Amino acid sequence: MSNILLTKWSTPYGTPPFHLFKTVHYRTAAEEAIKSASEEVNAISENKEPPTFENTLAALDNCGEQLTRIAAVLFNLNNAETSGELQAVAQEVSPLITRFSNDITLNEKLFARIKTVYESRESLNLSTEQKMLLDKKYRDFLLGGAGLGADRRARFREISEELSGLTLKFEENVLYETNSFELHIEDPSDLAGLPDDIIEMASMEAGKRVKKGWIFTLNYPSYLPFMQYAENRKLREKMHKAYSSRAFHGDERDNRKLVSLIVNLRLEMAKMLGFGNFAEMVLGDRMAENPSKVFSFLEELFEPSKKAAVKDFGELKEFARANGHAGDIERWDWAFWSEKFKKARYNIDDEILKPYFRLESVQDAVFGLATRLYGLNFRENTSIPVYHSEVTTWEIYDEDNRLLSMLYLDFHPRKGKSGGAWMTSYRDQKRVYGRNIIPLISIVSNFTRPTETKPSLLTFNELTTFLHEFGHALHGMLSQCTYESLSGTNVARDFVELPSQFMENWAFEQEWLDTWAVHFKTGEKIPAEIIRKIKEASTFNEGYACNRQLGFGFLDMAWHTVTEPFNNDVAGFEASATERTELFPEAESTNMSCSFTHLFGGGYAAGYYGYKWAEVLDADAFKFFQESGLFNREVANSFRRNILEKGGSDKPMNLYTNFRGKEPSIGAFLERSGLK
Ligand SMILES: [Zn+2]
Repeated sequence: MSNILLTKWSTPYGTPPFHLFKTVHYRTAAEEAIKSASEEVNAISENKEPPTFENTLAALDNCGEQLTRIAAVLFNLNNAETSGELQAVAQEVSPLITRFSNDITLNEKLFARIKTVYESRESLNLSTEQKMLLDKKYRDFLLGGAGLGADRRARFREISEELSGLTLKFEENVLYETNSFELHIEDPSDLAGLPDDIIEMASMEAGKRVKKGWIFTLNYPSYLPFMQYAENRKLREKMHKAYSSRAFHGDERDNRKLVSLIVNLRLEMAKMLGFGNFAEMVLGDRMAENPSKVFSFLEELFEPSKKAAVKDFGELKEFARANGHAGDIERWDWAFWSEKFKKARYNIDDEILKPYFRLESVQDAVFGLATRLYGLNFRENTSIPVYHSEVTTWEIYDEDNRLLSMLYLDFHPRKGKSGGAWMTSYRDQKRVYGRNIIPLISIVSNFTRPTETKPSLLTFNELTTFLHEFGHALHGMLSQCTYESLSGTNVARDFVELPSQFMENWAFEQEWLDTWAVHFKTGEKIPAEIIRKIKEASTFNEGYACNRQLGFGFLDMAWHTVTEPFNNDVAGFEASATERTELFPEAESTNMSCSFTHLFGGGYAAGYYGYKWAEVLDADAFKFFQESGLFNREVANSFRRNILEKGGSDKPMNLYTNFRGKEPSIGAFLERSGLK
């Protein structure tokens, strides 16, 4: 038994002994763990006792602890500290785990037991959390096709497999089309307006392709700055048209056919399971619950944001004209003139702000905020094993000195770390036989590393990112649930961004910034004038942005509420779905759907509305704090008890109204975004 992954970890709080793990151990450990998890599942399905909530649902929730633990370590490290070997192992292990969970859903005896419990649920005297667990598991099985007769099950599996193939192909086509275009510039005058570092990047790109001059691509870090800064309008038009016509050229990479096939298979699947359309199927366990609620939500936002968008558009046009632009504002003009307009209006940039946001001060301030709101205490524990010497580990205590959680912080970019920032866990909170298992939460980010002469200074965007991920972390750390699959951030997708986005609001509050944000050299407090400008700048073009998001939301919902097989032109369908949110003159031969990987590749189908939904929620929640005094302990306590501790143990709308005293409304969001 030299495979440490399979042994009991004799570390403080059972934290992963990272220093002892070897890459060669993962595959065998995962196979072993899957084997014993399968035995645990079989013990439940073969149980001779009649099914009860405890011997079936609670037991199932408790299955495969070892596997969960190994998978968490493997996939978390694959994101935060990977290598070629570890990536290869993750790719080997991932399908094994998928197959294992598919086997569970297809276990007929197990489903029969769950169904028996489900059908007698009214007489079982279950707690709210138990009801949620039962509903969730029952729904998982149903949506996996468990309730279908043998004949229809074969077709169901066929659809599932076909869909995963088609969505993959859809993404491949978009990727191919993104990579196959290049804008090759050889005349330096075509670079006018572009910042030096962007030009440098383009020159390196050309070098990589063994070409002279500069190359811009449709990848966002190259595409976006080109659209923002390049003065050559013709070239911007060329770039824009290339970007917006990806997988829409009438050749073998054209995604029109795939859009139809995917939409129709999703519809067939939904109907097979007894739903009217795909959106209805997806939304069943969301806070929004059903398509009509999503539509009325989008509709409610539409009027005010369209009005503000038209205003934004008019102002930009005026600014552009005054600065020498002739003719319409076309799609390829928007980012360019917006950038200039924003600069002229607010004259604020990262270099002005960064000196006030030294990483150590930000960390203290964020911890301090949790102390002030929730009474939490943070104590560093340097004896916890880490996977890299830069990672720090913290014990989180409640006011009464009860240990609530562990927190890992891993701030700086390294080779082997993915880009961006995220919160994750090595273990979620749960209660087993009355014993509380504390969660092990981690925040990983890519904040600028300090140098010998300069500390790590965050941009404003990095400050809000830290707050955002810390909000997710609080959701994980403060969890007080019984069942693991409902605890912490295991909540509905349109609810999960509430705790995180909620935290971002503090970055705009002078009352909080004043308590800690000082210039790292002079010790001077952040000027009120700067805070005012940050706040104002945050509403810049918000009407335009909101209107655009609504357009995507309407398009998504249109595709996923069709009730009859779609056999029409994709372009026409898209045009009519987005007609109301359109601001620009018509642009020929471009199309959004064909490269919209959120909808036809990844998992945002019938979920795009969620971005705005979460913003409305977090604005409404924060408004309550603003109205009651930002640091009002009673309100903070209610947010903690009703939302942060509750995970998915009750319906999101119940949790929210318990906190807020009423359902969310869009007023606070409109106000914050300057839309009214
Ligand atoms: Zn988030």
